Amino acid sequence: MFSDTELTASLSAADASQPDPGSALPRVLDTLADLAAHRMGARHGSLDLVDRTANEVITSVGRSPVPAVRTLIASVVAERRTVVVGGARESSRTDSSNENDVPDEARFYVGTPVVSPGGLLTGVLSVWDADPRTVGPAEIADLEQLARLAADLVQMVRERVTRPVFDGVAVAITELMDLIVSGATLNDVLDTLARTVEATSPETVCTILLLRDMKLHHGAAPSVPDSMRRAFDGANIGPTVGSCGTAAYTRQTVIVADIANDPLWEAVRGPALAVGLRACWSVPIIDSSLQVLGTFALYYREVRVPLPQDLRQMTRWVDLAEVAISRARYIAALRDAATQDALTGLTNRAEALRVLAEITGTSNTPVAVLFIDLDQFKFVNDTLGHAAGDQYLIEVSRRLSACVGQHDTVARIGGDEFLLICPGVDTAERAQVTGNDVVEVLRQPLPIEGTSLSVSVSVGIALRTPGAEAVTEDLVADADLAMYAAKRAGRNSVAVYDQDLRAQVTDRMRLEADLNQALSSGELFCAYQPIVDMTSGRLIGVETLARWTSATRGEVPPTVFIAAAEDSGQIGAVGEFVLRTACAQMAAWLAADRVWKGIALSVNVSPRQLADLRFPGVVEQVLADTGLPAGQLWLEITEGTLVPDPSLARTTVTRLRGLGIRIAIDDFGTGFSSLAQLKHLPADVLKIDRSFVTELAVDPAAAGIIQAVVTLAGTARLGLTAEGIETEEQRRILLDLGCRYGQGFLWSRPLSPQRLGELAGHRWPAAALAGSAAPAVALADHVPDDGRHDSDHDDEPETDQRGGVPIHRREAGDEQPDETGDETGKQ
Ligand code: C2E
Ligand code: CA
Ligand code: CA
Repeated sequence: MFSDTELTASLSAADASQPDPGSALPRVLDTLADLAAHRMGARHGSLDLVDRTANEVITSVGRSPVPAVRTLIASVVAERRTVVVGGARESSRTDSSNENDVPDEARFYVGTPVVSPGGLLTGVLSVWDADPRTVGPAEIADLEQLARLAADLVQMVRERVTRPVFDGVAVAITELMDLIVSGATLNDVLDTLARTVEATSPETVCTILLLRDMKLHHGAAPSVPDSMRRAFDGANIGPTVGSCGTAAYTRQTVIVADIANDPLWEAVRGPALAVGLRACWSVPIIDSSLQVLGTFALYYREVRVPLPQDLRQMTRWVDLAEVAISRARYIAALRDAATQDALTGLTNRAEALRVLAEITGTSNTPVAVLFIDLDQFKFVNDTLGHAAGDQYLIEVSRRLSACVGQHDTVARIGGDEFLLICPGVDTAERAQVTGNDVVEVLRQPLPIEGTSLSVSVSVGIALRTPGAEAVTEDLVADADLAMYAAKRAGRNSVAVYDQDLRAQVTDRMRLEADLNQALSSGELFCAYQPIVDMTSGRLIGVETLARWTSATRGEVPPTVFIAAAEDSGQIGAVGEFVLRTACAQMAAWLAADRVWKGIALSVNVSPRQLADLRFPGVVEQVLADTGLPAGQLWLEITEGTLVPDPSLARTTVTRLRGLGIRIAIDDFGTGFSSLAQLKHLPADVLKIDRSFVTELAVDPAAAGIIQAVVTLAGTARLGLTAEGIETEEQRRILLDLGCRYGQGFLWSRPLSPQRLGELAGHRWPAAALAGSAAPAVALADHVPDDGRHDSDHDDEPETDQRGGVPIHRREAGDEQPDETGDETGKQ
């Protein structure tokens, strides 16, 4: 219908509304050039057509190229491939021109050839901008797709396709492009396409189905009755599933001229025949990466076979559908990237907050927010590596998704923090059920890198219920606060936010902040309690006990601040401080007086410190820095530390013992599951818990237990020390039972290093051990270096109530330092 001259003429026509032949062409090409620019984030786009010999540009649509751009277009024509100026990412097919050649008007330029289906170069589709930028391969593929569409249109003109069809196509493309640019939904775009197809040939019924998860879903079917639409939505694909199911499966065009008799329709023909459809031709929609996006089908009310031009025409519609679907997927992918967590595919933080704001912003819908924090993620990451960490998070996400309802949102909002948003949950009890479910599903062992891990979590819950007295403003912050409380209550805890909890948590946070401050301000220090040979009163060791005298709180008991430090993770720093201070102190004593040689320095180590794989390294470093011989250091750990998770703590303990350090089991007898396990503990000394010693005079069973422990310790070749000895009677019974070493107020309370240093030089007769009017010594004797504390506390009630006696010093000639060390270890 058009000659080349007519084409040129039509393309040059300025006014698209004129009823000239092909008048729709310039308009659609113009839209294409615009869309290309829009798509590539460039200010200008043009489509430039060349003559048959590809020697000169015969006309250009869109923005007129400046001379510099014309040169670039000429290079696309010459090279017959996409040219990029300004830099391309991850693309091998493109060039980056030399810096010096880059014209000011087009610091960014991408041009791609428009090649007819027969391989003839018909033009160049270009976009450019004065501002430089980079493009990715996906954007380049998009531009190339638009160039194919342009080639199709030009080809239609050259093939003299009849006016109505051509205009139909051109109008459809223009409308579709406009819709796409304006951000219409994919359904609207496809619906417009199907309506245009039906308008162009009124006897056809057009359907577009989309392929997702190997099933076909409704895309557009404006003239198909609901009954049939429903029948095909969600249909499987396969080698013999009607026309579309088969086309999507085989990736081939499937022509069924007679639905009633074609075996391909055997199983599915009912709904189609019921609404009077007799023939169906279906073409798979396949994108540039050869992925099947869906199917495009034409139905007829009579038995019908397509003519070649019908098929050609169909492929043009299919190209259009492909542009629309690819574009929609691209936008969806962008949206996903903005709203999803890349690793787990869960909702990301920003989107979760938006979802929650939407729920709380509209109406009175109740909602529960669960804040979930993994307890040992850092451990997994540090010990098993990042790949294992990722795998761990993915599996956790999968499990979390499995325990919520379909209207709930599961989000990953931080490295190891997750949020569940459960609209409709209106009681703390219901929310707690979900919280417990979360704990339960994650507790199930999870296979990672050949080992099996059980995930423990802390869950904090905040609720907004309609009519609740205080409608909480910030549910996430409240749930986070509840999580903080849960974490401090131990593993796998669930806590629900309320005002009391806030008060508790605030107190706890202040304590932790003060403790942090104490570490650097010198408020934290060490006291030392003598451990003696009960037969002679000779000093054989000292136990280091942490002390905190706070400027605002006064004396904070170690049971309080050590527990807080354990829960908050500050124990690493506190523990290292104590260890370093004590080792330095012992090294100083050693340097001052050889009497200290062979006297054990005992330091308490909490389970959490021991669980840290860096711990043995820290100990080694402290020994190296202070110069204290490893053989003189005892580490006290509670028996419970070794029992629940033998593998890890044992490895650490074994490494420490390898350095020559002794391990003492503290509070022995309080948390032990079976005496039989005693033999297998990697330890050197048992410290019999104070509770047994206290019971000695009252409960004969206590003596029985101690007797059993003495016997077992003998066979296991473990040293024994009794704790909390306050009376001469206790001392005597213990000695009778065969326990030789002990510590307690009978000899001394924990002392300041100054006082203990002085006492080490004193000489006490063995007979003076009990009940003497010995000088009182106490915690208050500690004198910090800054001199803020008064050293003269001897008259304080605490100091002398129990008749504390300084320890007995070795007799002259009794010094057997090396042997002493051995005695305090294995006997
Ligand atoms: P523990 O390790 O069992 O320490 C012995 C505790 O018993 C000390 O209490 C000590 O003052 C007390 N004690 C000693 N002899 C007697 C006695 O004859 N009668 C009575 N009634 N008590 C006696 P303290 O100093 O209050 O320490 C309490 C706990 O705090 C310690 O128990 C230990 O578990 C923990 N702790 C103290 N310092 C540290 C530390 O640096 N690191 C760690 N991880 N824990 C520490
Ligand atoms: Ca201890
Ligand atoms: Ca103890």
